[in-house]
Order: sequence, then structure tokens, then C-alpha cells
Amino acid sequence: MDHLLTLQDVPRAWIEALLDRAQAFADGVAVPPALGGVAVCTLFFEPSTRTRLSFDLAAQRLGAHVLHFDAASSSTTKGETAADTFRTIEAMGVRGFVVRHREDGAVAALAALAAPGTALVNAGDGRSAHPTQGLLDMLTIRQATGRAIADCRVAIVGDILHSRVARSDLHALRALGCRDIRACAPASLLPRDATLDGCAVTQDLDAALDGADVVMTLRLQRERMQDGLVDSLEAYHAGYGITEARLSRAAAHAVVLHPGPINRGVEISDAVADGPRSRILAQVRNGVAVRMAVLEALLG
Ligand code: ASP
Repeated sequence: MDHLLTLQDVPRAWIEALLDRAQAFADGVAVPPALGGVAVCTLFFEPSTRTRLSFDLAAQRLGAHVLHFDAASSSTTKGETAADTFRTIEAMGVRGFVVRHREDGAVAALAALAAPGTALVNAGDGRSAHPTQGLLDMLTIRQATGRAIADCRVAIVGDILHSRVARSDLHALRALGCRDIRACAPASLLPRDATLDGCAVTQDLDAALDGADVVMTLRLQRERMQDGLVDSLEAYHAGYGITEARLSRAAAHAVVLHPGPINRGVEISDAVADGPRSRILAQVRNGVAVRMAVLEALLG
């Protein structure tokens, strides 16, 4: 694989090997200087906290030189295109690019311009894909449940329409053979294309949570949303917010994931986000390990 742009159609064996390697990093295996002397640029045209910082740490741990590009303080503000920005930084000898962009397909478009030996990782494009989030979510589920993904009952709840995280999670869950995926949102936030093929789609949160082992909660993405898709934040919380009371329908051992950033009191209550079922900070920890494994696989 030259680039990691999506998990769609990625073979199960590749994902499993990647997760095994990430687990080894999480367990503290000796880290090789696999990226010694390699320059990696985090090229972010959209804001980020977790993804950018964890890629930065992952690349540093593998011995890379890390350069940060921040659109707001760059020549993007003078009208320079993403393609010219990418070519400029590549011309400096940078071989690894971790790219986030608001437009669907923007990272793949840059990958098509890349010279042989340059690798791009999609750190989130529009609503299309966020493959390393999908991988770190699978690692977190494996650890939290102690089961194969194929045997988990997984509820994905919230703003699926605008969520690249949900799409990458779905790609990964299907690749790993998950047979029981429930997708739950108000009708206005359910995609009408093939995104949810094979899922049990419902607008009833209690039905989605019934017996679930894993609840994947999504942020309400107001920056991508047209007005009127939700009535009010209070009404959304009442219908789709994950609270202790709503979780009584899930399995006794159920765990809750959220990719962050959290809208507290909207898609998830404080008590759940900070409570014993929450695996939100485990996701963050796993993000570093998964990104080390991805960078090693592409650039090591
Ligand atoms: N941080 C994730 C993303 O960039 C999830 C979110 O923003 O809701 O897609």
C-alpha cells in the first residue's frame, strides 16, 4: 500500500496485522527508529487536536523529523491551492504527509500528484473517511471487549450523515466480519446512500442499544450542518443523547466510544463520558499506537 486514504476494500489481513502491531506498540515493545531521517508533514486544512498531536508523537517516536503546516498561518491565506502547497513541501524532500481537508476526495487528489516514495495518510476528508480513527476504534473495541470484532454487537449513534468517523468505522467493522451493526439517528442525520447497507437502521435509540456490547457515539457536526437538521440541542439530547439511563438497555459490560471533541450534554452526558463505561481516553491512547503502526507500514 502506497497511501492510506480509506479503509474501504482494505483486506481483513492488512487491518488485523496493523492492529496487532499497534497492540505491540501499546504494550511497550521496543520501538525501532523506522522513520530515522524521514521528514513527515502534518498538513491540516481543518482544525484538529487529537489526530494532529498523536501523529506528531507517533512520527517522533519512530525517529522522524516532523513539520507542521497550519492553513491559518500559511500562504493558503494568500490563495495558494492545496496542490501547490503539497508540491512545495514535497520539493523540500518531505516523504510523509498526514493530511486533513474539509472537502471529500481532497486527500486522494493530492495522493495522485505524489512522487513515487511519497506516502499520504488521510487524517479526515470532508465526511468521507478517517481511516486511522477507524483503526484505533477497532483496537479499542478489541481491548475493551476481549472479543473478536466479528462477535460484537455494535451501535453507532448520532450524526452519521456528516461523520467520516462513522464511514471508516463501518468499513473496518465490515472488513473484520462484524455481523450486528445498528445505526441510529434522527431521519435528518441518516445518510440515504449505500453508507448503511447491511446495518440495522433505526431512529429508536432504545432499539439500537438493546443488548449492544459497544456504543459508538458521534459528535453533532454543526460546522457541516445546514440549519434545521435538529430541532434543538435539548431535544436532540432527549432523543439521542447517551446517558446512564439509556445505557440500561445495553449489555451489562457495554463500553462507550466517542471520537472527540465531545459536545458534553448533547450527544453524551458527563456521567457517561467520565464514567466506567467510557473508553474515550483509551481511544486517544490507542491513536498514538495505531498511527505509529501506520507510519511504520507506509514509510518504514
Ligand atoms: N475528530 C473527528 C473528526 O475529525 C470527529 C469529529 O470531529 O467529530 O472527524
